[in-house]
Amino acid sequence: MIRLETNLPGFFNELCEVIRLFLGAVEIRQDEGDELIVHRHDEAEGLWVERFSAQGHEVCHAAPIVRGRLEEKRQLKRAAKTGCFLLMREITGVTPPWGSLTGIRPTRLMYELREKGVEGEAARRAMEDTFYVSPDKALLLSDILTMQRGLIDTPDDEYDLYIGIPFCTTRCAYCSFASGELGKGTLVEPYLAALKREMALDAALMGELGLTIRAAYMGGGTPTALTAKQLDGLLREANRLYPGAREWTVEAGRPDTIDRDKLQALIDNGVERISVNPQTFSDETLRVIGRAHTAAQTVEAYGLARSMGFHHINMDLIAALPGENEEDFFRSLARTIQLAPESITVHTLAIKRSSRLHEQGYAQVDAGTAERMVNGARERLAEAGYAPYYLYRQKYMAGNLENVGYAKPGYACLYNIDNMEETTRILAQGAGAITKWLFPRERRIERSPNLRNIEQYIQRVDEMAARKRALILSQEENEQ
Ligand code: SF4
Repeated sequence: MIRLETNLPGFFNELCEVIRLFLGAVEIRQDEGDELIVHRHDEAEGLWVERFSAQGHEVCHAAPIVRGRLEEKRQLKRAAKTGCFLLMREITGVTPPWGSLTGIRPTRLMYELREKGVEGEAARRAMEDTFYVSPDKALLLSDILTMQRGLIDTPDDEYDLYIGIPFCTTRCAYCSFASGELGKGTLVEPYLAALKREMALDAALMGELGLTIRAAYMGGGTPTALTAKQLDGLLREANRLYPGAREWTVEAGRPDTIDRDKLQALIDNGVERISVNPQTFSDETLRVIGRAHTAAQTVEAYGLARSMGFHHINMDLIAALPGENEEDFFRSLARTIQLAPESITVHTLAIKRSSRLHEQGYAQVDAGTAERMVNGARERLAEAGYAPYYLYRQKYMAGNLENVGYAKPGYACLYNIDNMEETTRILAQGAGAITKWLFPRERRIERSPNLRNIEQYIQRVDEMAARKRALILSQEENEQ
């Protein structure tokens, strides 16, 4: 256990995140622990001075003082985190690929630089110099900004729709979502009734505000765990209430839940983008991670979707799965590329606290192996004509790396960009779904999370819709 003594206790959690970049999920307390890290913050001659010491090492980082409520807090946090990062780097001799960045979308920083007129090579250098991001990751960010050009500037009167189906056939060992196993399926019909009610209440509100739908996304869970009839009914209702989406995605994630009737229901309702997720092409790994399908079923489901006319299929893979080495991962990647989906998302395994892998005490692969997998994927995908178009990072990822969506030209998913870059309002429905309401003038996001528990959601859907409505209306009025 580590004891972190700081005279900026308001940033304790952020400093812990930096320490965990180097030491993993260690316990850190303010009042006890065998290893002591001391942080002293001072001001001198127009500078913030951040002194960190531990294990006989001492570092000092200085940054110009910035005044002004929000910006001051932000810059001070950045200065303290940088000091902590420099200490940990000196002690461990390690520089994480994303440098000192935690808890922020790296692309957002690139966009902030762009607003100040700093672009291209200069922006990459700024990321390297200020946040110690590796040149390779800085280049990845530039490539993503290039792919997002023309897709990111959403008109102020548009929103995206997210519909969550929190059911899966079995639970994956790494899952931390609010998904329940289907079991006997007794909750499904009541859930769909509650969901349709929330959809209708929200649609009335969108009508009152005169907002227009941009992209629609049904995720989960596994939407295709529903029957074809249930899927058809839900999509019909979604299209009746929210007509005119420019893009419609349904996650058909588990290949074993896909059949001709369900795909036909998607086609009949205008869904043109689906995700068929192999995660790996190793049957042994699929068994270990509890996916309950085989690699052959993935190929079969993909072939069926293609034969029925789907022309935008995404496939998800996960690097650093339990028991897999680089060779295993690259074999899965090669097989995926051979199938030629329009987009491929490469995740890095994250072991969240609520996952079965965490309960089992599974240890991640070493950072170097994870990094070689992720970097190798990028090279191989570039050779095959895929470019990165969105990226996000999560806590507890192998090697502190990232998840990256790659797409062939013209196949970037609008919803993924909007959601990750937070440039569009996200109206979300279903258990555990989080509405992220953007106020364009203030460039601020307010969240309205729905209850994760499925039974609670069913019982209290009106209350959640009312809370969402109150938040949206109060803030939209402020924007007038
Ligand atoms: S398919 Fe997704 S939501 Fe369902 S159990 Fe697996 S990780 Fe969780």
